[in-house]
Amino acid sequence: MDLRYSQQDEQFRAQIREWLAKEVPAHGPPPPPGDWTARRAYDTAWQRKLHDAGYAGLAWPAEFGGRGLPVTQQLVYLEEYARADAPYISVNFVGLMHAGPTLIAEGSDEQRRFHLPKILRGDSVWCQGFSEPGAGSDLAALATRAVRDGDDYVVSGQKIWSTRAHVADYCELLVRTDPAAPKHRGISWLILDMRSPGIEVRPMKTIDGESHFCELFLDQVRVPVSNRVGEENDGWRVTNVTLRFERGTAFAQHIITMRAQLRKLVALALERAQVPGSGWDSDEIRAKVGRMAASVDALWRMTQMCISEAERIGAPAVFGSAVKLRYSELSQEITDLAMRLVGEPIVGRADVGGIPTAEIVREYLWSLQYTIAAGTSQIQRNLIAERILGLPRAR
Ligand SMILES: Cc1cc2nc3c(=O)[nH]c(=O)nc-3n(C[C@H](O)[C@H](O)[C@H](O)COP(=O)(O)OP(=O)(O)OC[C@H]3O[C@@H](n4cnc5c(N)ncnc54)[C@H](O)[C@@H]3O)c2cc1C
Repeated sequence: MDLRYSQQDEQFRAQIREWLAKEVPAHGPPPPPGDWTARRAYDTAWQRKLHDAGYAGLAWPAEFGGRGLPVTQQLVYLEEYARADAPYISVNFVGLMHAGPTLIAEGSDEQRRFHLPKILRGDSVWCQGFSEPGAGSDLAALATRAVRDGDDYVVSGQKIWSTRAHVADYCELLVRTDPAAPKHRGISWLILDMRSPGIEVRPMKTIDGESHFCELFLDQVRVPVSNRVGEENDGWRVTNVTLRFERGTAFAQHIITMRAQLRKLVALALERAQVPGSGWDSDEIRAKVGRMAASVDALWRMTQMCISEAERIGAPAVFGSAVKLRYSELSQEITDLAMRLVGEPIVGRADVGGIPTAEIVREYLWSLQYTIAAGTSQIQRNLIAERILGLPRAR
């Protein structure tokens, strides 16, 4: 695929740049960390603005309410979005990046008609109910049970690490519909309405003092059979479609944002050079930043490849695991170096001498999760070894 930008792409760039230059400052800063109700309102209002201006679902086919734009324009959009420091997608992440795409690929006409416009307009927020206390890396070991009762499934069990479930309307829910079948063959993928009776959502506190994710307790929750995506017991195949979107293209926006993160790192290193050998005057630090900048460029090329491949075959290929692996490890390297540059003041966490120490510490603590969320680095390495390189299976 030719990824050079045409004159039309550059016209599109000029349009979106102008729109973002006006709308981003007008939308104002996000609410303080921890206020999830306000965050939901902020994010969904921004999504509505994108939608009304024609900038929602650029990659989604036009027949499903998207713009169906060529890959080059999707990339231009991401570049401009990062350049403008536009609001992070946040509560809309699951809906836009993998629930919606899964429904496009695997949903029924009725499911698509009902859910896709709501996701694009910011009218509904989704979460993911895949992991369980006994099923993380080995996701197919999940035990949440769904028993058929007429036109409903009756679902009982526990989910964990469900990001932003406390502000979600719908959940991508994996359940076991056939406990007698081999573990990968007895799973179904359901759309759970988070307002159904029998659901208890318990936010969990993380190391940064916030509640990003939740436990879900499901007690005899009735889910209409019409909310099943794909066939009964064929949920593992549908899950892999979701995971390919989640690991392959969903992080594109984060990756392009890493350029801005590096710019901030350089500014910090220049500032710290006043203390000899601890900032930009150190050969070691300059060499590290240089390597990181080259890695970010390489990663953006890999992302471009992944997005164009997804366009060609309908979903990102397993190559997305390589992108996810490198992206998450590089994010940690960047935040780790920022902590090193700040030095002792990080202990106090309060901003010191004009350095945004509190933000640097928060970003560092948050970065610890990158190599776990959406499948750990070890699991990505197994996938790369077995499915890309064709090496023998790990025991
Ligand atoms: C920030 C964040 C957000 C998340 N959001 C969601 C969400 O919204 N919805 C959801 O369902 N889940 C979510 N998760 C859960 C996430 O998918 C799991 O944490 C992840 O898959 C790992 O599972 P686990 O925590 O049970 O660890 P385990 O599977 O118990 O793994 C423990 C360790 O063993 C290693 N390991 C396990 N198996 C192997 C193997 N075969 N080979 C080599 N090493 C192995 C792992 O790499 C890891 O280091 C989120 C997690 C985080 C951190």
